[in-house]
Order: sequence, then structure tokens, then C-alpha cells
Amino acid sequence: MKISALADTDEHAALRDAVEAVCERFDDHYWGELDRTHRFPHEFARAMAEGGWLGIAMPEEYGGSGLGVTEAAIMMQVVGASAGVFAACSTVHINIFGLHSIVKHGSDAQKRDWLPKVISGVLLACFGVTEPDAGLDTTKLKTRAVRRGDHYVVNGQKIWTSTAQQAQKMVLLARTTPIEDCIKPTDGLSLFFADMAGVKITEIPKMGRHAVDSNQTFFDNVVVPLEHRIGEEGQGFRYILDSLNPERILNAAEVLGIGRRALGKAAAYAKERVVFGRAIGRNQSIQHPLAECWSELYAAELMTLHAAQLYDAGKPCGAQANAAKYLAADAGFHACDRAVRTHGGMGYAAEYHVERYFREMMACQLAPVSREMILNFIAERELGLPKSY
Ligand SMILES: Cc1cc2nc3c(=O)[nH]c(=O)nc-3n(C[C@H](O)[C@H](O)[C@H](O)COP(=O)(O)OP(=O)(O)OC[C@H]3O[C@@H](n4cnc5c(N)ncnc54)[C@H](O)[C@@H]3O)c2cc1C
Repeated sequence: MKISALADTDEHAALRDAVEAVCERFDDHYWGELDRTHRFPHEFARAMAEGGWLGIAMPEEYGGSGLGVTEAAIMMQVVGASAGVFAACSTVHINIFGLHSIVKHGSDAQKRDWLPKVISGVLLACFGVTEPDAGLDTTKLKTRAVRRGDHYVVNGQKIWTSTAQQAQKMVLLARTTPIEDCIKPTDGLSLFFADMAGVKITEIPKMGRHAVDSNQTFFDNVVVPLEHRIGEEGQGFRYILDSLNPERILNAAEVLGIGRRALGKAAAYAKERVVFGRAIGRNQSIQHPLAECWSELYAAELMTLHAAQLYDAGKPCGAQANAAKYLAADAGFHACDRAVRTHGGMGYAAEYHVERYFREMMACQLAPVSREMILNFIAERELGLPKSY
């Protein structure tokens, strides 16, 4: 099933085809095996780096392609629609916009040192924001970075840090000024690009996306040099906010890709599986839910494309990016759910892979932001309703 709305110009179609050519080298068998053995997709990561795709949205002067979020979304939709679904997306996701704060607020020396290595795949980064006791209430995070002359000493804990086992660096958000000494809770948080040396890592057993590790990371007097701080002290929360909208848009595109893959599998199975003397796809109770999924995915794609174009035009897009993520997560989830059901008992068997897609899709309902927090945002900002929490 071709991926459509996000790639409607010749340039975009060519981009999609080129990314597809890399992704097609890694089939369901490859990803199924990695999921079963909990092994990181190093070969896929290398292939994407060699194709130059890790720098799609990075500045050209550091070896990137300097393209916009629209092109990055097309690319990530293709990656999501590949056999690797969310695991494939998570392998490269941080490279696409996760280091936006360095691009925007890093010094020239930092950018010269770090960005080419990230783009070439030599350096893998992870993202350390979520903490066990703060949850979505990010400003309440407890990890402290205390300045001692030319370095900071970091103590605290992060949770759900994806790829921490593979990464050499972490984009780390830590409190540098106690919250009680700040005018606003969003003040006093700082951003670092910290080395992983000295960080203790323990893996979290989880439901799916087993090829890409999720971890707890512990900082016990970890030293972070001053030159690894990004931008000004105390501005870290604002720097993170800068990259939230592209992050939502890319996540929406990934989920839409996964949904399309699941829907394609469901339609193919519905055509070939014969029960009661006819293909199950002749039954409207099989057809109609799949047609609904197609419609939901297409509508969410248009919203995602719209949000991406607004962002690239430098226009406000908070509500659109959030709505895109919300609609895409639901559309993608419905498609994966329907793909399992359409396969009947075989939907539950690893052999058909739709159960893997379904397990991975569940994470997209929860992270990087939950549907509840998106609805809170839209209710307040677009409908003028009072803050409910
Ligand atoms: C597979 C996976 C990968 C991840 N990767 C990373 C990563 O690399 N780096 C990183 O920093 N984090 C990562 N995360 C963490 C993820 O971003 C968080 O799990 C997510 O932000 C939700 O936070 P929480 O789990 O603490 O939920 P909580 O904050 O505990 O919320 C629990 C539930 O309560 C709801 N809720 C809370 N407050 C409100 C409210 N005011 N109104 C309505 N509902 C509310 C939430 O919507 C949610 O449903 C990952 C998570 C997963 C599952």
C-alpha cells in the first residue's frame, strides 16, 4: 500500500522511494528476530547513516541535508511503514530533531564537534527527560546539576531512556536552581549533552519494541564539564519546548506509517484467507473497519502534512502538531488492532508480525506525550477552557 498524502510532489516521491529502498533491505524476518532476541538493529542504523538519512534536517555546513520537517516527516513515515515499525523509528528518531536544541542554541565549537559525528552515525545520543517521580509534570524533575567551577556534578535518576545502552551521549535535562528559588517552575532547568560514562543503566522489561532498549539511568556524582552545557544555564526547559512541535509531527508521521503497514497486511490477508468457502474480505464486517482505518489514516496524514507545512513556513503550529499526533496515534492504533483481528487466531501468532506491530503501537499511545495531555493543551489554548490540573 503506497504512502500517499505526505509525498505528493516529484521531489517528495523521490525522497520516499530512496528511503524505502534502504528500509526494504530489512524485512519482517530481520525485525522479528531482533524483537525475539532483544538485539539492537545496528545494521539498519548503519544503512541509514550510510545513506545520509540521519542528517536530513541538520544544517548543511555540518554535513546534513538542511531539509524541513515536512521532508523529515515523509522519511519517518516510510521508516514507520517498514517491517521495523516503531523499533526502526526509535533507532533513528533522536537524530532527526532530538538534537534541535544543539543546532539552535549550541556554540559553534559544540556543533562542529558533535553534529558531524551524529550525522555519520559515529555518535548515538539518547534523550533523558522523563523521571519516575515527575512523570509528565516535567518541571518537578529532581535530577540536580550543581556547578563546581568548570564542571557540574549530577545526581538523580531518569526513566524510559531509549537507546541508553547504545548511546555515547545523553541530552540531559537537570535542575540547576532549586524550584523554590525560581520565579517560575520552568526556570532553573538546564540542558546538557552529557557523556554516558559513569551513568549506571538498567534495562526495563517491557511489552514490545524489544530491539530498542528502554532504561532507567542513574547519576551518582557524575561529572559533566561546563562545555557540555547547551546554551545558557536555567533555559533548558525553553530549549526543549522549541523542539516539541517537530517532535509531535514526526511522531505522528511514524505512527501513520505503522498504521499503513498494518492495514496493508490486513487487506492482503483478507483477500487470501478463505473460510465458509469464500475470502473473509468479502464480508462487510471485515471490509468496513478496514475502510474506516484507511479514512482515519488519510485524514490524520493531511493534518500532519498541514502541521509540518506550517512549521516549515515559520508559522505557529502548536494546536495542529498536537492534533496531528492525537489523530495519528488513534488512527494507527485502530489499524493495528484491526490488523490483528482480521488475521483471527493468526493475528496472535508471531509468524504474521501484526502482533509485533500492535505491541509497538501501544507505546505510541503513551509517549512521548499522552493523548490526555494533548487534549488538555487543545482545550486550554484553542477553546479557552480553564487549566484542569
Ligand atoms: C517505549 C517508551 C519510550 C520512551 N522513551 C523515552 C526517552 O527516550 N526519553 C524520555 O525522557 N522519556 C521517554 N519515554 C517516557 C514517556 O515520554 C513518558 O512515559 C510519557 O511522557 C508519560 O509519562 P509517565 O509515564 O510518567 O506518565 P504519568 O505522568 O505518570 O501519567 C500517567 C497517566 O496519567 C495521565 N495524566 C497525568 N496527568 C494528567 C492530567 N493533568 N490530566 C489528564 N491526564 C493526566 C497521563 O496522560 C497518563 O495516561 C518513553 C516511554 C515509553 C513507553
